[in-house]
Amino acid sequence: TTKMTARDVNVFYGAKQALKNVSIDVSRENVTAFIGPSGCGKSTFLRCFNRMNDTVDSAQVSGRIQLDGKDIYSPDMDVVQLRARVGMVFQKPNPFPKSIYENIAYGPRIHGLARAKPDLDIIVESSLRRAGLWDEAKDRLNESGTAMSGGQQQRLCIARAIAVDPEVILMDEPCSALDPIATAKIEELIDELRGKYAIVIVTHNMQQAARVSQKTAFFHLGSMVEYGDTS
Ligand code: ADP
Ligand code: ADP
Repeated sequence: TTKMTARDVNVFYGAKQALKNVSIDVSRENVTAFIGPSGCGKSTFLRCFNRMNDTVDSAQVSGRIQLDGKDIYSPDMDVVQLRARVGMVFQKPNPFPKSIYENIAYGPRIHGLARAKPDLDIIVESSLRRAGLWDEAKDRLNESGTAMSGGQQQRLCIARAIAVDPEVILMDEPCSALDPIATAKIEELIDELRGKYAIVIVTHNMQQAARVSQKTAFFHLGSMVEYGDTS
């Protein structure tokens, strides 16, 4: 089942063209890796999928990107809602400076998925379990998320994305700030999440792409120069 499709996407930052006529489909069946040297447009393309590019980076985006057949750049698209359906995990883990519990409960509460404490408790536990963090977090739910190790913080950010029931999870070099053991845990987790969410991961690391992805898109100077099964 195809989740997101991008067709003939062009992105400009002012006069500078950062992305040239790029198209792709992403689905739950495959983890898709965006690979290529620094500055080739990987992040720019990823940030088109949740509208960070035009709303945060002031980029000019043309072409068509659809989520479940609906154009995400149409004027009636609710961008706050879109950000829940298309979650994002950044290079530097960025938990809220709040308790571990609140990091997870905040999204479901503001999106109206749950209000009562028992319902939120269930979402907190299931999200942390899915992110492989429950055993480490269950006895410290009231401690600050920022007090955790880097790898735990990144899994907390993944749990936070999961908590609002996304269809797509975007990851922008999610392991670059982590040590090898924490990196291996995230890679394992990505594999476990495959099939549940359409996952797109930006990496400049070919070995990582080979370990976590089934589809690879290679970028060079703003163009997608190759796409196919990860070998
Ligand atoms: P990558 O993720 O492959 O390293 P980026 O998508 O970050 O590449 O950048 C692609 C090109 O667009 C680069 O030349 C970069 O300097 C430029 N760029 C990225 N973000 C911005 C921005 N917010 N404003 C202006 N130029 C940008
Ligand atoms: P990465 O290396 O992870 O792709 P960058 O260091 O290129 O990230 O970019 C970090 C931030 O700076 C991003 O928000 C990006 O949009 C912005 N940025 C990148 N290049 C430029 C640029 N030439 N002008 C303005 N902002 C930029």
